[in-house]
Amino acid sequence: MQLQDIRSMLPEEMKTAIEALGEQSFRAKQIFEWLTRGVACFDEMTNLSAPLRETLKEHFTLTVPKLAVKQTSKTDGTIKYLWELSDGNCVETVLMHHHHGTTVCISSQVGCRMGCSFCASTIGGLVRNLEPSEMLGQVLFTAKESGHEISNIVLMGIGEPLDNFEHVIRFLKLVNHPDGLHIGMRHITLSTCGLVEEIDKLGIYQLQLTLSVSLHAPDDETRNRLVPMNRHGGVAELLAACKRYFDRTGRRVSFEYAMIDGANDSPAQAKLLAEQMRSVGGHVNLIPLNPVRERVLTPSGADRITRFTSILRQGGVNVTVRRSLGGDIDASCGQLRRKKEGE
Ligand code: SAH
Repeated sequence: MQLQDIRSMLPEEMKTAIEALGEQSFRAKQIFEWLTRGVACFDEMTNLSAPLRETLKEHFTLTVPKLAVKQTSKTDGTIKYLWELSDGNCVETVLMHHHHGTTVCISSQVGCRMGCSFCASTIGGLVRNLEPSEMLGQVLFTAKESGHEISNIVLMGIGEPLDNFEHVIRFLKLVNHPDGLHIGMRHITLSTCGLVEEIDKLGIYQLQLTLSVSLHAPDDETRNRLVPMNRHGGVAELLAACKRYFDRTGRRVSFEYAMIDGANDSPAQAKLLAEQMRSVGGHVNLIPLNPVRERVLTPSGADRITRFTSILRQGGVNVTVRRSLGGDIDASCGQLRRKKEGE
């Protein structure tokens, strides 16, 4: 018999499964509450009878990530976790403090197959997709370990969330569920390198989350080099998909732009980006590239960032220059996992 992964189940499904075991349906709600509190095994569910706990062990698995590495930034309190999953693979999760609350940045895959030329996560390719329970586990156990209540979630860790579409949708339903963590969709950001078909598919759900597109270049020549997935449809098709997404959901798309010295930070590129943003109605987050040991690209200098920003602002674009958190702790996604594997 195939055991079911209980942390990936929605309360409604749990209710059906519990009833099928001949138990009363309110037990499902109790179990879901225990799972939300981050229990590590069925025996911690102390308001269930011992026989019921045994029955649960026979029918379900309960996966718990193991803490492999924890690094705390001395400058801003950002904490980076490397969690070991039940099959020994590791993923990174980052906890960041902002004035509006505590944000957890989670991974959606072990590795990544998108091949972005500045990113550490994709260097060894894709190993596997994460289960919904493994994404939820990162949130629950990061909260539990740190003692912080999580107010926001960003899917910006290792992996391409839209390349693990069904599991990500299920994860979103799980964290958003009123019987669970109940984190509002408006407090969730999903970041993608720009998979056009999946952006359209996501739009159909009309979720109120923030879609963040890792644009990084306004012209195909540059973007093909930085984000190889761009070769499939180019910037024009991607921006058209973002426009359709906005029309369908009413939610403005935000665009990530890592400033890379001499690659994507020229005044001409700023002008082109400003034009594109005017037609899509997007917000731009500029962030200096986080240098990655295995990569040759370097971050733009402060003067080039200032110049780029002012061209965008003159063009009427809404721009934020993001502070980079956790610079002292391998906080750029994929770096900690690579370091650990290299040991
Ligand atoms: N695959 C998704 C989400 C994970 S990456 C995506 O591409 O959006 C999260 C963000 O970090 C993306 O914007 C990505 O382009 C960016 N990123 C990756 N490596 C980086 C680096 N070395 N410096 C700055 N940003 C980086």
